[in-house]
Amino acid sequence: MTLTTHTAIGAAIGSSVGNPIIGFLLGFASHFLVDMIPHGDSKMSDSFRLLHKKGPVAYASIDGAIALYLVLTLSNIIPSAQLFAFSLAVAGSVLPDLLIGLQDLTHWRILKPFFRFHFFFHDFFTKKYGDVKLTYALAGQAAVIIFILLPLVNG
Ligand SMILES: [Zn+2]
Repeated sequence: MTLTTHTAIGAAIGSSVGNPIIGFLLGFASHFLVDMIPHGDSKMSDSFRLLHKKGPVAYASIDGAIALYLVLTLSNIIPSAQLFAFSLAVAGSVLPDLLIGLQDLTHWRILKPFFRFHFFFHDFFTKKYGDVKLTYALAGQAAVIIFILLPLVNG
């Protein structure tokens, strides 16, 4: 999934549970479950990891900037009492992709088991049944983000 989708889900989790530690753990766990849903980036992920193409870098940069804008917007909407749980749940929900990026960049051995763990979930259905078109996946994720965030925006 996009970082923006993980961010929206983390925001909803943090705002719902209200506890920073539980929010972080649920946000972290949600990443793997949500990544299992085929989301159109299998070829992009492979072309970056195996062929070192630049398109996925641009895609990730745009996604990261949109996720940042989403966090900045939501941090001004979320009630201050829920802000710490919101922040840690969002941090937990995007942490797995940060660790994957670090592994790709550094090839640290300590992250290799986590790398395999992440892609076990990420590729769970796509390796068996194939992926969906990226444009459909992005449209679906945009709809999910709006659906998740409407209650937060409306209070
Ligand atoms: Zn991921």
